[in-house]
Amino acid sequence: MMDKLIVAIDGPASSGKSTTAKLLAEKLGYLYIDTGAMYRAITLLAIRHKILDNQEAIIRLAKESDIQLRFEKGQTSVFVDGIDVSEEIRSMEVSKQVSPVSKIEEVRKIMVQKQRLMGEKGGVVMEGRDITTVVFPDADVKIFLNATIEERANRRVKEYHSKGIDISLDQVIENIRERDRIDSSREISPLKKSEDAIEIDTTNLTIDEQVNLILQKVKEIISNRN
Ligand code: C5P
Repeated sequence: MMDKLIVAIDGPASSGKSTTAKLLAEKLGYLYIDTGAMYRAITLLAIRHKILDNQEAIIRLAKESDIQLRFEKGQTSVFVDGIDVSEEIRSMEVSKQVSPVSKIEEVRKIMVQKQRLMGEKGGVVMEGRDITTVVFPDADVKIFLNATIEERANRRVKEYHSKGIDISLDQVIENIRERDRIDSSREISPLKKSEDAIEIDTTNLTIDEQVNLILQKVKEIISNRN
């Protein structure tokens, strides 16, 4: 029996997935996999190549580019063809374009294949939009994180401000709403809560509380198996 579990976490934009998944992975000694970073990386490339309106070219780029997540000193960095793009993929420009790019079926196929390879041996906490439904529907632990739009936007604004990026709450709310709308309504792998996922509303929870809730679940499953 596999002792190193697959923990899958989905949820809308800024619902606390990254922070929670990262800490949880640290506590478990698992690998943290941020799948949104992969879609952001391909979007950044499409912006740089000025091919956002050309699906075929985006697919070609997704096939030909080497997108890698690397884990060093507790940090996840994203590399495209050997170059660190971790900062650039968080820009508002990428945030605005990422959902349309993520709708492309072929792009998703390429990403999902990579994600399955990274996680199939277990010992991973993987977060995104379709991890509990498509990438690992049989994951050992399936979590759907949520929070009110106000809370999610506030968190994102704080993050931008802490990096010295000046952005208004309204701009962030608009971006989050639009991404959620596209991500939830797309034909291929839309964001939705799968029936057997545990839903956690993080609006009034501290980060420690939300991490501990999932940690308990993981420990329960491991001890039931032994
Ligand atoms: O997680 P993050 O907000 O960085 O994801 C950025 C975007 O990438 C999402 O809004 C969504 O369009 C796309 N995404 C996806 N499937 C995933 C992860 C992210 O379509 N598994």
